[in-house]
Amino acid sequence: MAFYLSKDQEKELAQIATTIAAPGKGILAADESSNTIANRFSSINVENNEENRRAYRELLFKTDKSAIAEHISGVILYHETLYHKTADGVPFTTLLKENGITPGIKVDKGTVLLAGTNGETTTQGLDGLEERCKTYKNDGAQFAKWRAVIKIGPNMPSQLAIHDNAQNLARYASICQQAGLVPIVEPEVLQDGDHDLETCQRVTEKVLAAVYKALSDHHVYLEGTLLKPNMVTAGQACTKQYTPEQIALATVQTLRRTVPAAVPGILFLSGGHTEENSTVFLNEINKVTLHKPWPLSFSYGRALQSSVLKAWKGNKENIEHAQKEFVRLAKQNSLAASGKYNSTDKKT
Ligand code: 13P
Repeated sequence: MAFYLSKDQEKELAQIATTIAAPGKGILAADESSNTIANRFSSINVENNEENRRAYRELLFKTDKSAIAEHISGVILYHETLYHKTADGVPFTTLLKENGITPGIKVDKGTVLLAGTNGETTTQGLDGLEERCKTYKNDGAQFAKWRAVIKIGPNMPSQLAIHDNAQNLARYASICQQAGLVPIVEPEVLQDGDHDLETCQRVTEKVLAAVYKALSDHHVYLEGTLLKPNMVTAGQACTKQYTPEQIALATVQTLRRTVPAAVPGILFLSGGHTEENSTVFLNEINKVTLHKPWPLSFSYGRALQSSVLKAWKGNKENIEHAQKEFVRLAKQNSLAASGKYNSTDKKT
């Protein structure tokens, strides 16, 4: 007798996924590892210690419910943060749930080099993942994230990198679903390099096609997953300029060619694009008139936090101002997720 998810398990996963992908809502990716947050903090001269990390996340999660809950449906946490509390003792997971926001957890353990390649990587974290997922589910997480990284360059991505990362994403997704966590499948094609838009489109199509083949091979229940892809853009160092409309069309074409309609939501990463570009591109994507069978929204880290960090600077007196910046960015991206953002909204 084959071993599949039960109907009840499927129902629960589909419900979590559709709640997160609710129209006009997106995810705050606040799952920076302690190493990654060090870079963010050093840009504002804040020491990277546990209390500062906790205080910064408290600032984000204590942002006025009435201003944030209509824009943000989920927050991705890092292991340490899942177990943190507010200064007055409320677990972050409780606070988020009270605000109508679903807590999620980053479960990958970062990238390592793939031998015999030109610096390509695979993502670690499958060992012990089943146990960790069960614990995280018990401790309040409802979804998970695993980031695979694909590079564009001479002879890159290699078949090995595409295949290995797709297999790992599929294995991760399967393990999450068995534990009742909705897997966010994140194959990020980096924007490093001087490649043009067409090259990014070709590579992203191949990567997504491989990912959905692997998810099928691993019997992953698509209605209980979410996709977190890159937008299709030229490389950072490309000399040719493209309009947001061109980027949006290439992105929607790519997704239509590769992502099954059963997937309940696509939430883009910001990948180093500026806050404004991340919002404008998302808005244009939603304005593309081709049929788009999924909500197209955001799961941003940097594009929801750069201005917040700059406003905060590690200073308690700046918390209110920093929270206002967070609300402004959440609202802008929520409008963009419906194709209703107008850059004059920026200041409101
Ligand atoms: P960025 O939006 O800063 O790319 O981060 C999103 C994320 O969660 C990457 O895994």
